Amino acid sequence: MTEDIIRVEGLSTRFFTEQGQVNAVDDLDFRIERGEVFGIVGESGSGKSVTARSLMDLIESPGRITDGEIWFNDAELADSVAEGNEEAVDGDFVDLLSITEQQRTALRGTSFSMIFQDPESSFNPSLTVGEQLAEAVEVQQRASANPRSTKAKTQTADYSFGNYLLSTMLPSQRFVTDESRERAIELLELVGIPDPVERADEYPHEYSGGMLQRAMIAQALAGEPDVLVADEPTTALDVTIQAQILDLLDELQEENGMTILLITHNLGVVARMCDRVGVMYAGEIVERGTLEDVFDDHVHPYTEGLLGSIPDLASAGGRLQPIGGNVPSLLDHEMGDRCHFADRCPKAMDQCLEHPPEYAAAGSDDHTVRCVLAERSYDEQDSLPTGYFDETERPAGDKHEDPDRSAGEPPEERTQPQTTIDEVGGESR
Ligand code: SF4
Repeated sequence: MTEDIIRVEGLSTRFFTEQGQVNAVDDLDFRIERGEVFGIVGESGSGKSVTARSLMDLIESPGRITDGEIWFNDAELADSVAEGNEEAVDGDFVDLLSITEQQRTALRGTSFSMIFQDPESSFNPSLTVGEQLAEAVEVQQRASANPRSTKAKTQTADYSFGNYLLSTMLPSQRFVTDESRERAIELLELVGIPDPVERADEYPHEYSGGMLQRAMIAQALAGEPDVLVADEPTTALDVTIQAQILDLLDELQEENGMTILLITHNLGVVARMCDRVGVMYAGEIVERGTLEDVFDDHVHPYTEGLLGSIPDLASAGGRLQPIGGNVPSLLDHEMGDRCHFADRCPKAMDQCLEHPPEYAAAGSDDHTVRCVLAERSYDEQDSLPTGYFDETERPAGDKHEDPDRSAGEPPEERTQPQTTIDEVGGESR
């Protein structure tokens, strides 16, 4: 049986703004197995990226993680932390939220690395790509010199003050070592950049979008991380380049046995890349399971809605079924204590006016759903009256007309086309 590398328990991340408290991530539970690709999927504003940043300890003011634990499986780290902080350790797992900021920072790049949505803003335009990659290599080497590091496998460069001074006096002398530059070129080659020796001396603006995304992946690999967090890694790219980048991630994951947390709004990407998946809505994971659980045996109407809004190439001419309405405000005083999807849900019932707990779907602990339909079947008799939420919750001027409901008619159950994994371009892994 595959062991877990990460266990997230009760994670909540909030932002304290002038408008009020924003519950960006609320009481999340999920686990990631070592060597798998775990996907988090949902619309913009569902809390996916905040989840990724929480894992990377990159939440900035006015946000902060307010609750929960992030357990990371690293026996060497556990031994080292246990000496002074026993409570932060459980077997080989260490709670990253219970160790010092310095210890967490040392893990970034070496144990965890991240690739972001927008590679252009991740590179310094005044330095060559090769210099920036070599710097990333050197930063990781410094981290490796840390006696707690599990990565002490690269040689230490000469970071003496004399070398730094030399680099400022002689323009040709770069403050990166030859070894780091060679490693930077190797990394460019690894991610499929043609002519890596020449390309290393080019500036970011000389790279195409796809090449820059590859360079960012190379940068993330500089520290040979155990977990790669990829936040919408293909969003800014055209379809052909998207496919190339996904192929690259797939190859790197298989060759290095790396664990990937993939954040995306695209179910086609999930179907193609992921082993297991969490569907996120309004800061919560509303359905979680294997790819087959979520695509073929889903329970949550939001999952059904996401699948129904994917174009189905097999039935050309058919109409897409978008999910009506918008993602809700995550302001605490506007969220209410009911199912957060209720005002968009075609199956909303009286019972949904209470916040549903997380249920095990079909008795499987690995397939969980935050919806009453995991415990009972839908009965049209129990449906809320048409316009219920318009009248009870929405301010004037912010009313959403659901095109599927005519005035005076009972709410109809939307029939979503059942998109399977194969139809959206993926295969069960
Ligand atoms: S709990 Fe009710 S409103 Fe919420 S998703 Fe399930 S059926 Fe729809």
